[in-house]
Amino acid sequence: MERYFQPEIECASREELTEIQTKKLIEQVKHVWENVPYYRKKMEEKGVTPDDIKSLDDLAKLPFLSKADLRESYPYGLLGVPLKDCVRIHSTSGTTGKRVVAYYTQGDLDLWNDCCARAIVAAGGTEDDVCQIAYGYGLFTGGLGLHGGSEKLGCLTIPASSGNTDRQIMFIKDLGATILCCTPSYAAYLAETMKEMGMSPEDIPVKAGIFGAEAWSEEMRRDIETTMGIKAYDIFGLTELSGPGVAFECSKQKGMHINEDHFIAEIIDPDTGEVLPDGSEGELVFTSVDKKAFPLLRYRTRDICSLSKEKCSCGRTFVRMAKPKGRSDDMLIIRGVNVFPSQIETVLLNHGYQANYQIIVDRVNNTDTFDVHVEMTPEMFTDKVSDITRMQNELVAGLKSMLGIKAKVTLVAPKSITRSEGKAVRVIDKRKF
Ligand code: ADP
Ligand code: ZN
Repeated sequence: MERYFQPEIECASREELTEIQTKKLIEQVKHVWENVPYYRKKMEEKGVTPDDIKSLDDLAKLPFLSKADLRESYPYGLLGVPLKDCVRIHSTSGTTGKRVVAYYTQGDLDLWNDCCARAIVAAGGTEDDVCQIAYGYGLFTGGLGLHGGSEKLGCLTIPASSGNTDRQIMFIKDLGATILCCTPSYAAYLAETMKEMGMSPEDIPVKAGIFGAEAWSEEMRRDIETTMGIKAYDIFGLTELSGPGVAFECSKQKGMHINEDHFIAEIIDPDTGEVLPDGSEGELVFTSVDKKAFPLLRYRTRDICSLSKEKCSCGRTFVRMAKPKGRSDDMLIIRGVNVFPSQIETVLLNHGYQANYQIIVDRVNNTDTFDVHVEMTPEMFTDKVSDITRMQNELVAGLKSMLGIKAKVTLVAPKSITRSEGKAVRVIDKRKF
């Protein structure tokens, strides 16, 4: 286990971390310049050569890469090593458009698995744990990523993959799973199903959950924690950088520590591309300094969050990223107002609902319509019109004060909104732009 909590790196001083990052950055820029013609061309267009990169401040001289670049260079245009040196391919979930593919050498996989092992250790995991992986396996990085981390750490690993909820619950009970890894929306569904089956937190051997791959609110965390009687940890990552484990929560749960020995994070103004000071909210940009097959420099994630270098009381000095509100492209602009689904979720959970909702946006007579369908919980279910109207009005008021605009809220019967086994689909935008 000690191998996956490495205080000499994870608790190193800022000077030491800067030194590690600078050295790796200089080498990585050379590697990319020599091996990835697509990026070299971008550097040449900007008039930058590897000689210009001597310190972390020089990072800002490098051109950005965006999802559009990844699509343009699909499939092998960003390969940094001969294809024969690669051993695995993954692909994004395609949540926001055409998939992109990422490739890995054995070394890249080892590094990724180490990141996931660190995340499990930070969530209290040891080699004595039984880790059930209910993220999807396959091209999606969730399953195989946590799987690799769990095995490296020496946990007994159950590769359950997503779906088949009854079997998940049977394995959790029969095999004594102590750590559950899946998307937060699937965790909420599992928790709900266990409750319906009459299971109480004491009947559930799980003590910790590692939930990520999509944005989720603090309120949803508390909900899952009480229903299952566990501590729920956030984990962040994206296929383009390897997968889950780019950043992970420690026991303090005050943001996710970024594995800074492998990834350099920046926050930029999404409109101007200008680097913003620590603490500002903006778009997260990552430079991967160790990966060889798919070595992305200054990759724009479109995730909106902020960074904090303040020392964490867990002892780790790795910079912490705040929970991303969602991606800049998850953000809806409704009647000119920016709306993140995660803000709606916060209001619902604060009013005693669960995160079972759908947002439907359309445009009628040049005006945006904004409908929110929300499931009643079995406890609050009623068919009395006056009660339903009162509850709907309360939510309309709650949403108005959070978002500044009025939504039409419709309460629907428990279980009438389709559950997700992977990333939840919360938004249906019917507007044509
Ligand atoms: P896709 O972009 O198709 O969804 P990925 O499966 O690689 O493909 O998803 C990566 C994205 O998922 C991240 O850029 C981020 O938007 C989101 N994500 C991953 N983990 C989290 C998390 N813990 N909190 C919020 N968003 C997350
Ligand atoms: Zn910490």
